[in-house]
Amino acid sequence: MTSRFEGKVALVTGGSRGIGAAIAKRLASEGADVVLTYGGSQEKAEAVAEEIRAMGRKSEAIHCDAAQRGATSAVISDVAARYGQLDVLVNNAGVYPLTSLAKCPDETWDHMLAVNLTAVFEGLRAAYQVMGQGGSIITIGSVAGDAAQMPGVGVYSSSKAGVELITRAAGREFGRKGIRANIVQPGPIDTDMNPADGQNAELQKMMVPLGRYGHSEEVAAAVAFLASDDGSYVNGTTLKVCGGMTA
Ligand code: NDP
Repeated sequence: MTSRFEGKVALVTGGSRGIGAAIAKRLASEGADVVLTYGGSQEKAEAVAEEIRAMGRKSEAIHCDAAQRGATSAVISDVAARYGQLDVLVNNAGVYPLTSLAKCPDETWDHMLAVNLTAVFEGLRAAYQVMGQGGSIITIGSVAGDAAQMPGVGVYSSSKAGVELITRAAGREFGRKGIRANIVQPGPIDTDMNPADGQNAELQKMMVPLGRYGHSEEVAAAVAFLASDDGSYVNGTTLKVCGGMTA
């Protein structure tokens, strides 16, 4: 593997499991020191950090409840101060409440917006303060940000539509400082959030021209491209990793 991230420091929110863990390991495998945050999965997060340290990179897992106002900003400032730089931020932490719009409780709505949208806003704003020329921010959205494809997904869709636009806006606003911001929109990816044998799985497979769920590593590869200099002229845009679901 080439070392596209040698000497770089990356922060991945929600790096304890699933897509975030795959992204953290992929960036480290290409030379980055990687800090990952977690909410409830401390053991899993520590295991990912340990795996990364075994690759010869610096890594630590930091508790950061993305639902708490100010928590994401504080972690970004802290990491940039202690490591002396922040080159890559991946806004990945997310929750997926499957609920009908008509019956969605206030607490579900508030928590989802706090994690999926407000924490991303905080991440973008804080990253602007600490990143320099060449910084790269990637937000993990969803194809559900384009359309509420299935019953129960619409509430989640609204947060993923929001993060797409705010991330593209960051690409526009931060570009003059040499910071790029892009959004990756996965289709169905086999994780705890959306297991390939779970609710609506067969329906989702039918909606994907490739006929299968994606793997976290396939999303991580796209993130690594956008984070690296290979994506140096890619800014303020959306990359779909969805097997053609939205073709
Ligand atoms: P998982 O449920 O497998 O993992 C979610 C991650 O987010 C965990 O690391 C979890 O950490 C973290 N997280 C959740 N809530 C919080 C919180 N309050 N504070 C800190 N961390 C939190 O999901 P995926 O890996 O599948 O999803 C990752 C991203 O990809 C999400 O943004 C999701 O919306 C998006 N996505 C996923 C798709 C899929 O089909 N899987 C499709 C499209 C988009 P912990 O366990 O430590 O709390």
